[in-house]
Amino acid sequence: MPKNSVIEENLFIGGLSTKGHSGNRSVINSPFDNQPIASVISADENDVRDAVAVASEAFRGNSPWRKLTSRNRCEVLLRLSALIRKHAGDLARLESMNVGKPLREARDEVQLAADCFQYYAGVTDKVGGQTIPAAVGGLNMTFREPIGVCVLIVPWNFPIAITSWKTAPALAMGNPVVVKPASQTPLTALRLANLALEAGIPPGVLNVVTGSGSVIGNALVRHPLVRKISFTGSIEVGSQIMKLAADDIKRVTLELGGKSANIIFTDADIPKAADSAVWSALGNAGQDCCSRSRLLIQKPVYRNFLSELTEKLKKIAVGDPLEEKTELGPLVTSSQRERVSEYVKLGKDEGAKLVCGGDRPDRKELAAGWFVNPALFTDVDPNMRIAQEEIFGPVITAIPFGTEDEAIEIANNSTYGLSGSVWTNDIGRALRVVRAVQTGVISVNSGHSVHLEAPFGGFKRSGMGRELGLAVLDHYTEWKSVYISTA
Ligand code: NAP
Ligand code: MG
Repeated sequence: MPKNSVIEENLFIGGLSTKGHSGNRSVINSPFDNQPIASVISADENDVRDAVAVASEAFRGNSPWRKLTSRNRCEVLLRLSALIRKHAGDLARLESMNVGKPLREARDEVQLAADCFQYYAGVTDKVGGQTIPAAVGGLNMTFREPIGVCVLIVPWNFPIAITSWKTAPALAMGNPVVVKPASQTPLTALRLANLALEAGIPPGVLNVVTGSGSVIGNALVRHPLVRKISFTGSIEVGSQIMKLAADDIKRVTLELGGKSANIIFTDADIPKAADSAVWSALGNAGQDCCSRSRLLIQKPVYRNFLSELTEKLKKIAVGDPLEEKTELGPLVTSSQRERVSEYVKLGKDEGAKLVCGGDRPDRKELAAGWFVNPALFTDVDPNMRIAQEEIFGPVITAIPFGTEDEAIEIANNSTYGLSGSVWTNDIGRALRVVRAVQTGVISVNSGHSVHLEAPFGGFKRSGMGRELGLAVLDHYTEWKSVYISTA
């Protein structure tokens, strides 16, 4: 697709591309040069009603979707995975243009989406119920049944990955879905829905409604035929959704970000830890719920570690996300850059030392984009707001610590608990620390958070429920228990 063409997209409801009731459009600009890249429909409440109605229809007892055997469901999900791989180049380019993330990161994300459909295709014919000897005699047997219409609300930081890791398990377990992408980044979800139809997923099973969450969010969450909401995004909206869902006892899964600790002990492989400290904090320009933005370094190596890290940060290739050599692109929107710039100012006001970055690159060709140079704050007090609040940008806050107990205390001094890392060559210490840190995901001598075969989600205000692995299947099924008397 040529760089300067504007893509025109519609809603995707019931297997059809539709302009919806109002036909109102909004334009999406590129985070790199602020030029228009797409025009999409701003859905209203009537469009939400249509999408939920067709999804609900697709769930009726004799619908083509309900009539698919588990093997048929496996086959269509595998076909969708193969189609994502076939179109991976275009999808990655689209994601890169839309989000501003470097092409190399967008490729990994598309690969994760394809892997995700492949993985959940594999569970369709393997996850079943139990037979249980009831104490009163007779027999209990259990079925795992789909819940019904699931609304999947997706953020802008990893659009195709998060759309896939919600959609794939929901479909694998037999549910129909309505996807609500973030306003800024709906493009790959719309492509995915078209590929799903091509793969043989019946019309109405996967619908995509684009538009502002503040306009259609309530209609999606409150609709009486919606039985489950899976949301990834901010705490404010997550909490609002949970309250609205309470009226109707809807199932809710929330993934709400983090402020994760990267703990470096003196005995660690320091060069490896320093490399990882860069990208486990700054991947996707730090717009990552798993970003290890709090860097806890043991005092004997604190100064040396930071000077090595500073050199690395200064060498990061900031630039056009579509260029192969680019390592860090712009932030997603001007308001996100605004937010990050305010935190950089706040850090200075709070008394932390800004060692590098936090400003805008002075290259003319980047002047129109939402860029922020990678920033490092040192001598940060764990109670400062820059060490407590999710900045969601390329900003690392470094905190020195003395003992293992102190490291654990600082790591747990957070209302969040999503991700984290521990760097040490002492296996006993590694195990003590991973058990003591209150977080849903933690790595030893690695900066990785997401393995689609393992559960992913947060402690404390980072959310509730789990995505990925087999654990997510509990969130897309109801257990039905059937008692059979043998008397
Ligand atoms: P957000 O408002 O929570 O957006 C996330 C998703 O929720 C988007 O699809 C959004 O749609 C939708 N939404 C917004 N208001 C809604 C409502 N009332 N009902 C239902 N859905 C609604 O997040 P944001 O404003 O884009 O970002 C703000 C901050 O949230 C970030 O700086 C970051 O700290 C955090 N965040 C966390 C994650 C994460 O991965 N956990 C992801 C994104 C943001 P619209 O795009 O149309 O508003
Ligand atoms: Mg918002």
